[in-house]
Amino acid sequence: MARQFDVLVIGGGPGGYVAAIRAAQLGFATACVESQAWGDPKGEVRLGGTCLNVGCIPSKALLQSSEHFDNARHGFVMHGIATGEVSIDVKTMIRRKDNIVSQLTGGIRGLFRKNKVTLLPGHGRFAGGGEDGWEIDVAGETVTARHVIVATGSRPRPLDGIVVDNRLVCDNAGALAFDAVPKRLGVIGAGVIGLELGSVWKRLGAEVTLLEALPDFLAAADADIAREAWKVFTKKQGLDIRLGARILGVQAGEDGVRVEYEQESGGQVSGGQVLECDRLIVSVGRVPNTEGLGCEAVGLRLDARGRIDVDAQCRTNLPNVWAVGDVVRGPMLAHKGMEEGVMVAELIAGQAGHCNYDAVPWVIYTHPEIAWAGKTEQQLRSAGIAYRAGKIPFAANGRALGQGDTTGFVKMLAAEGDDRILGVHIIGTNASELISEAVVAMEFQASSEDIARIVHAHPTLSETLHEAALAVDKRSLHF
Ligand code: FAD
Ligand code: NAD
Repeated sequence: MARQFDVLVIGGGPGGYVAAIRAAQLGFATACVESQAWGDPKGEVRLGGTCLNVGCIPSKALLQSSEHFDNARHGFVMHGIATGEVSIDVKTMIRRKDNIVSQLTGGIRGLFRKNKVTLLPGHGRFAGGGEDGWEIDVAGETVTARHVIVATGSRPRPLDGIVVDNRLVCDNAGALAFDAVPKRLGVIGAGVIGLELGSVWKRLGAEVTLLEALPDFLAAADADIAREAWKVFTKKQGLDIRLGARILGVQAGEDGVRVEYEQESGGQVSGGQVLECDRLIVSVGRVPNTEGLGCEAVGLRLDARGRIDVDAQCRTNLPNVWAVGDVVRGPMLAHKGMEEGVMVAELIAGQAGHCNYDAVPWVIYTHPEIAWAGKTEQQLRSAGIAYRAGKIPFAANGRALGQGDTTGFVKMLAAEGDDRILGVHIIGTNASELISEAVVAMEFQASSEDIARIVHAHPTLSETLHEAALAVDKRSLHF
């Protein structure tokens, strides 16, 4: 007889493994199907998906290592610390990153054991069934489940005519495993991955050129933040970012990679441009994983962009079939997928289930970091929403001065009238941690006045949020 589960999750990334753990906590017999070994030395399936294996965690490990290197070379001197000649052992740096990944992916296996989630290694595919039970094929076995949560994630978007070999032409997986610092690194796409991984290899000594299709830099960010980031990344850090680039062809040979492109600027097109580099990263967005899932077999509906079509609570068009994470609409962020996983498990249990899409923070882990939650000024203006802005530079913050890290600012946007916080935008040191205060405030519909009246420890970077809230009402105390 087929094995039966109450809840079966397809995909063991942040959306899937968290959904599985929460479902098991709620008392459901739960299984999670995962197909990828992600380069595991024993060939065993690894949990954690893109995020743990080739995404969030390894990229942050390398960002940290490269930041230490950069500080040793350029940052410590202002503190009177002389380091002499500094060198980087890339193999050790990569090994450290790999160990962190192994530790965390193994940790999720441990969490599955603790919570009694059954791991089913193999590719999951809908075989049939309906409301009373869905049949899923996994590694030659058909299991049944009352509820199915699809959490199959995403993969790098391919570019026509470009073959990724993860040696010379790399996606994120290859770019996180270079064995040496390339002398010249090319990047197609100056988005989140391009900027984070471009920063890693730039700090380690590569000449980095990014070719971006759009005429605007960081178009999704608040324009003020994007302007500051442009200034810091290009002028201070020397990232060569070329906007309005249209890629015409990529050839990889033994001596490196040749990218042909044309560039549009101010209505003028300059054709015949060439970028020669030793390695190329292609980071032009990601596409949802729905192939081989058997969607057609059961009539699981996709949206116009090929993602699984879901409502605001992650229900698909099929009864008791749910979908979360990168495979559905919304930002492709690990924490968004995890919250959706929890929401769905709780909805299955008849609980309220909750994911506030208006308060999902974004973070780009460059240096300075960029973080925001809520609406940008350009969004508020185009929606005709009246607001007041309070902006405080880190240069006016004692802790930032002490750290020797004063680049950037905090900007708070609050509704004209009741001062409800509509958006918070940060570029500066530790922005990734500071944004949490803004998210909590927005989740509880707090106003800038509420933040202005909360005691913030001194001296801390969080005082910039306090001051920005005061600045909304034009009464900042330290600026
Ligand atoms: P995934 O993590 O993609 O996991 C899906 C899993 O499902 C995979 O393991 C896959 O093997 C498995 N699978 C797919 N189909 C099947 C099938 N049919 N049967 C069985 N298994 C299947 N987000 C952040 O929030 N912060 C960051 O700092 C961040 N950094 C990133 C850096 C990089 C370089 C990249 C590439 C991404 C980063 N992201 C970051 C995005 C984040 O990794 C994703 O949003 C997140 O992993 C999505 O989780 P998921 O569970 O939806 O999908
Ligand atoms: P992205 O959407 O952030 O950036 C892709 C960039 O490539 C865009 O600026 C786009 O205009 C550009 N582009 C698209 N086609 C192009 C072309 N043909 N030529 C030149 N440029 C082109 O996507 P990404 O950097 O690949 O990252 C994928 C997703 O992974 C992100 O959107 C994000 O959701 C997630 N991620 C998050 C983090 C984080 O949270 N810190 C880090 C990395 C990745």
